[in-house]
Amino acid sequence: MNIRVRFAPSPTGHLHIGGARTALFNWLLARKEGGTFILRIEDTDVKRSSPEMVEDILEGLQWLGLDWDEEPYYQSQRFEIYRSIAGQLLETEGAYRCFCSPELLESKKQKARAAGLDWRYDRSCRELSEEEIQEYLKAEEPFAVRFKVPHKQKVHFEDLVYGPIDVETENIEDFVLLRSDKTPTYHLCVVTDDTQMNISHVVRGADHLPNTSKHVLLYQALDEPVPFYVHLPLILGPDKKRLSKRHGATSVLEYKKQGFLPAALKNYLVRLGWSPSDDQEIFTEEDLIAGFDIGRINKANALFDPQKLEWMNGQYISTATPEELAPEVKSLLKEEKLWDEAWEDKGRDQFLGILELLKSRAKKLTDFVDMGRPFFSDEIEYEPKAIRKNLSFADPAEAANLVAALEELSGAYRKLEVFNLENIEKILREVGERHSLKGGKFMGAIRVALTGKTASPGLFDVIVTLGKDKTVERLGKVPSLLQ
Ligand code: GLU
Repeated sequence: MNIRVRFAPSPTGHLHIGGARTALFNWLLARKEGGTFILRIEDTDVKRSSPEMVEDILEGLQWLGLDWDEEPYYQSQRFEIYRSIAGQLLETEGAYRCFCSPELLESKKQKARAAGLDWRYDRSCRELSEEEIQEYLKAEEPFAVRFKVPHKQKVHFEDLVYGPIDVETENIEDFVLLRSDKTPTYHLCVVTDDTQMNISHVVRGADHLPNTSKHVLLYQALDEPVPFYVHLPLILGPDKKRLSKRHGATSVLEYKKQGFLPAALKNYLVRLGWSPSDDQEIFTEEDLIAGFDIGRINKANALFDPQKLEWMNGQYISTATPEELAPEVKSLLKEEKLWDEAWEDKGRDQFLGILELLKSRAKKLTDFVDMGRPFFSDEIEYEPKAIRKNLSFADPAEAANLVAALEELSGAYRKLEVFNLENIEKILREVGERHSLKGGKFMGAIRVALTGKTASPGLFDVIVTLGKDKTVERLGKVPSLLQ
């Protein structure tokens, strides 16, 4: 079977987590089966769609590496096609002209509401005689085109996730295909395009499940084969409400800005509604493609857990090589005006060494900037809390002892020829002992002097990474920091 799937976003908003998940599942299916993944921009709502959102969607997909085949399709360029399909349905009597004015429909709706009834179009124009229709047309009355939902039938379709679904046609309104201003509706466009683009599997959010019976009726009226349906479970936020702007980042590109790796986000998204047989969490892209299986998509709502996403991102960062992380961190450092051109060549090893040191603690790429500031910049921001905890003394003799110890340490470091982990640790411990300074206390003071913080990677790693000159220089500042 020739698998053809599509991601069909409406550019009335950003590419959000839900959209990205839908795109990913379509892409995985296509890549696994050697099929085709197309991108269709559903921009029929000209007023609410915008080129900026189209850009956001394309950029977000590219960033995630969800490459599409064929040129993207734009529904706004296909209005004539939809109109001709509506015309075809009028001819075959699968649809009819509805001359009801919006005012008339509104007043009927109000009346139904007042009587406590659900409003559904009363089909009054369905039974117009040919003469009546000709009269309206002669008078140039505007009309919408409505689908003629068959009476008393069952629409049946099989969803590959939700199973068999049957809907009584009595519960389906004669829905509009073409509005009186001749703009096509979503139902008409989606079925026309899925037919003409030979879509084999419609993979989309479960919020579209209620639309599907209408679409099946349209396929039948057009005498076209119904595609396979794969509806994906809804995504809920941590508060169990449907994921929305309230839950944070609205655009996938916002995650890029916040320092997430596309591979990590992609890996996280695949578990939103899909689980492998062995509960594996981390996948290479090849594993994902090979292991993806529609049969393992869950019906139950998926829960978006930002902490788990951070954890996953941290996993990806810690297993990446410093070389792999370098370009992204460089651009973040540039933004913060912390980038030093020397790191491009002669200082390269030092730069990569800093990344190596920080990567096991970083959850996001931006952590390299926050945690790495003491390594990337000489302007240390001393946290007041760190000074209070490690560099304030009630007893002046204690302060003097620390200063003396640090002077001795600096002197020994300056003379040290092989400035490696082993040697610096040995010297530090000896000096501490000579001055009766407890390890934790001495090291805490050194940590603040070198990084300005109470927490950092292992102190000896910090010292080696900073190098002799910077270490000695920063230790020399301690007397001016004492409180
Ligand atoms: N354009 C629709 C949306 O953004 C998707 C339509 C579909 O997949 O059938 O929700």
